[in-house]
Amino acid sequence: MRILVVEDEKKVASFIKKGLEEEYYVVDTALDGREGLKLAESEEYDLIIMDIMLPLIDGITLLKEIRKKEIAVPILMLTVKDSIKDKVEGLDSGADDYLTKPFAFEELLARIRVLLRRNEKLKSTKLKVGDLILDLQSHRVSRNNHEIVLTPKEYSILEYLMRNANKVVSRTKLIEHVYDYHFDTETNIIDVYINKVRTKVDTNFDKILIHTIRGIGYIIKDDT
Ligand code: CA
Repeated sequence: MRILVVEDEKKVASFIKKGLEEEYYVVDTALDGREGLKLAESEEYDLIIMDIMLPLIDGITLLKEIRKKEIAVPILMLTVKDSIKDKVEGLDSGADDYLTKPFAFEELLARIRVLLRRNEKLKSTKLKVGDLILDLQSHRVSRNNHEIVLTPKEYSILEYLMRNANKVVSRTKLIEHVYDYHFDTETNIIDVYINKVRTKVDTNFDKILIHTIRGIGYIIKDDT
């Protein structure tokens, strides 16, 4: 899942980016509101984390602009202590949640999981397709009780497919949600990764779960 972090304090921004990447998220950062707006408009994010006090375009204006453009991405805002006005205005302007700085990283991760879950009415922290189970919290993947060991990138790909189970996911869409802004979309590396994921998930099992839709993309489904 791909997250945009809009935060002008470089240290905080890179701390959040690094922490989220360790949790297998793909992260882009913007250091001011204008860059944040540009990325929010041009890229596809699963979640945006934004500070309220931002240069060039402040967080509240940024929120309103994103919602005005009907970008329905979940937004978590970061506020400073005791700023009730910011929190209320933020929530009224289309933010989904807020977190007061300084915050515990564990809490940020838990709130992110909740916000990402809201989109698909998922009630647990596990994704399931047939006998394949992906645990969003521990990042463990298993099939029929056999553990499947994936690299972070393979995990991201499988997670995105499973969140969209029974739907065809185009190659482009997959790239947009598992790679950051600097990825060259012309490369065929995604196919290489997909093949690795398939080998690990489907080889040695009776039923194939990941299917190629020729010329379009991929689908994960359990036919029975
Ligand atoms: Ca700030």
